[in-house]
Amino acid sequence: MASYKEFHKRSIEQPDAFWGEEAKLIDWHKPPQQICDYSRPPFVKWFVGGETNLCHNAVDRHAAARPNDRALIYVSTETNEEKVYTFAELKSEVMRMAAIMQSLGVGKGDRVLIYMPMIAEACFAMLACVRIGAIHSVVFGGFASGSLATRIDDAKPKLIVSSDAGMRGGKAVPYKHLLDEAINLAQSKPGKVLMIDRGLDKAFNKVAGRDVDYATLRAEHMNADVPCTWLESSEPSYILYTSGTTGKPKGVQRDTGGYAVALAASMKHIYTGFAGETYFATSDIGWVVGHSYIIYGPLIAGMATVMYEGTPIRPDAGIWWQIVEKYKVNVMFSAPTAVRVLKKQDPAYMKKYDLSSLKHLFLAGEPLDQPTHEWIMGELKLPVIDNYWQTETGWPMLSTVRGIEDTKIKFGTPSFPVYGFNLKIFREDGTECAPNEKGIVGVVPPLPPGCLSTVWGDDDRFVKTYFSLFKEPLVYSSFDWGIRDEENYHFILGRTDDVINVAGHRLGTREIEEAVQGHSAIAEVAVVGVADQLKGQEPVAFAVVKDAARIATLELREALEKEVKKTVDESLGAIARPKRVHFVTGLPKTRSGKMLRRSIQALAEGRDPGDLTTIDDQSTLEQIRQALAG
Ligand code: ATP
Ligand code: MG
Repeated sequence: MASYKEFHKRSIEQPDAFWGEEAKLIDWHKPPQQICDYSRPPFVKWFVGGETNLCHNAVDRHAAARPNDRALIYVSTETNEEKVYTFAELKSEVMRMAAIMQSLGVGKGDRVLIYMPMIAEACFAMLACVRIGAIHSVVFGGFASGSLATRIDDAKPKLIVSSDAGMRGGKAVPYKHLLDEAINLAQSKPGKVLMIDRGLDKAFNKVAGRDVDYATLRAEHMNADVPCTWLESSEPSYILYTSGTTGKPKGVQRDTGGYAVALAASMKHIYTGFAGETYFATSDIGWVVGHSYIIYGPLIAGMATVMYEGTPIRPDAGIWWQIVEKYKVNVMFSAPTAVRVLKKQDPAYMKKYDLSSLKHLFLAGEPLDQPTHEWIMGELKLPVIDNYWQTETGWPMLSTVRGIEDTKIKFGTPSFPVYGFNLKIFREDGTECAPNEKGIVGVVPPLPPGCLSTVWGDDDRFVKTYFSLFKEPLVYSSFDWGIRDEENYHFILGRTDDVINVAGHRLGTREIEEAVQGHSAIAEVAVVGVADQLKGQEPVAFAVVKDAARIATLELREALEKEVKKTVDESLGAIARPKRVHFVTGLPKTRSGKMLRRSIQALAEGRDPGDLTTIDDQSTLEQIRQALAG
C-alpha cells in the first residue's frame, strides 16, 4: 500500500482520478459525468451530473442486503430507554416519517427545521428529509427562542419538527414554549409543526390548525412506501449553522453527492469503520459531528450507530464504557471537553468494562492539550486521535489516516493534512510559512467533496467571509492559527481572533493554555489577551482546579497562582506568563462545549460580553466577574 504522503499527494495532484475512485464507495442512480467542475472559483461542484440520494446510501442499500442487521441503537440514560432498530425497521420508520412530511405539503427543496432532543425520531426526520429531497436544518434542542428565531428566519422552513421536551440530568427541559416564542418572534412562519409527544410535559401548548401529532399521523401511514427522490450531486442536502463561538453563526450549505462520497471515504480511511461494525459518537445531532458521524457517516458505511441521550457521568462515569461493552462498539468519537470531565472522575470506571471491541477513539472540536491526550490514551491503551475540522468542512482537515498508514501519534497535535485538503500555513503576506513558523491555517481551493458549497442564500458572504484573506493567492481561511514541525505534524494554536500580541510577540491562547494545563493541579483553563498600555496585550488565565482544597484559603490560592506562572515560565518563557491566574469552578462555553474566549476577554477588558445566545451556563460569567473584582 502507498504511504500516506503519496496518497495525499495524489489527492491534490490528480483530484479527478482520486475522487473518481472514492465515488465508487456509494450507489449512484446515474453516474457522474464530470468529477470536479471548478470553472467558477471559489465555488466548486463535485460529481456533476451524478444522481444519488443520501437516504438510499445510508439506509435502503443496507436494508436490501442485510435487513436484520442493527442500524440504529438508541440509548437514553435520561428516560432509561434502549431500543435497537434494524436496517429494515429504520427504513420503515423513515418512510412513515417521509409520508407524514409529504402529507403536510413538504417536497423537494423545501426546508424542514428540526428542533429536537436526542431521540430516534430526530434521526428518522433527518433521513426522511433527504429521502424526499427536502433540506433539513437541525437546530440544537434547547437553544433559546432568540437563536431559534434567527435560524427560522434564515432557513424559512415550511415545516418544523419538534418535541415537548428534552431531558438533562434526569429532569425534563420543556421545548415547546421556546418554539412558540421563536415562531412569534420570527418573520417567517412555518405552515405546520409536527410534534413528537414524549409525555414529558403534559401541559404543552397546542396551536390549533398548525400543530399536528406525530403518533396519530404515524398510525395513518404504517404501510407507507415512499421512494427516494434522486438528486443531482450538487443539490443541497442540509443547512447547518456554525457554533457561533466567534459571533453570528453562518449557515453552511451542504451538497448531496460530494458529502456522501466524502463521508464514505472517511469511514474507510480515517475511522476504519466497516459494515456490520458499531460506531458511537457522543455528540448531539445539533452539531456537525452529529450530522456526519452519528447519522450519515456510519450508516452510509453500513455500520450500526449509537444515538445516546445523556451525560458522560450519569448514572456514573462508566456509562460510555458500559455502552461500548454492551454493544461492542468498534469506533468511538467524542470531544476534549468531555474527556476533561472524565479526567475529574475516578478512572476506575474505565477499567470496569470490557473495551476489547474498541479500535480507537477520535476527539474533535477544541484543542486537545497534551496532558489530556496522554492521560486518555494511557487509560484506554488505544490510539486516541485528534481530529481538527469545522462545521464548514463537514469532515476532518487534520488527522492521522490509519486506514492508509500507521503513523506515530504525537501528543498535542491533530497530525497531518487529510487527503483532499491542500492545507498550508500562511504568513500574512500570503506566502507559505516555513516549519516551526506560526501562521494562519488555510486551504488552497478547490475545497474537497463534503465541504460547504456556499453560505445558505448568500454567495457573497461565502466569498467574502472565507476567501478574502489575501488578494493573491485565493485561499480558504480557517480563522485558526497554527504551526507545523519538521515532520509535518500540525498544531492548532488558537483562533486568529484570539492571538495575543505581547510586546510584539504573537502567542496563541492555546499555547499558553497548554502550558498552564502542564501544572498537575489544573483541570481546565481559558487564557485571553487583555489590553495593556505598555505591552499592547497581556495574557490573563482563568483556571479550574481538580481539587478545591488547593484554593481553600487566600494563601493557598496565591501560592498556586505563583506555581502556575512558574510552570508557564518554564515551558514558554516569561513573555507568555499570565499577568493573573484567576480560579473559578467553571468556564463559559457554548452549548457545543467551546470556550467563549471573546466573552471572557470582553469582561476582562470591562466591556459587554456580547452575543450570549449560545452560552451553556450563564453563572460561569458571574464567576469571571467576581474573580476580576476580587
Ligand atoms: P463560529 O464559526 O460560529 O464562530 P465555531 O468555529 O466554534 O463557531 P465549529 O465549526 O463548531 O464552530 O468549530 C470549528 C472550530 O473549532 C475550528 O475552527 C477550531 O477553532 C476548533 N477546533 C475544532 N477541532 C479542533 C482541534 N482538534 N484542535 C483545535 N481546535 C479545534
Ligand atoms: Mg468557525
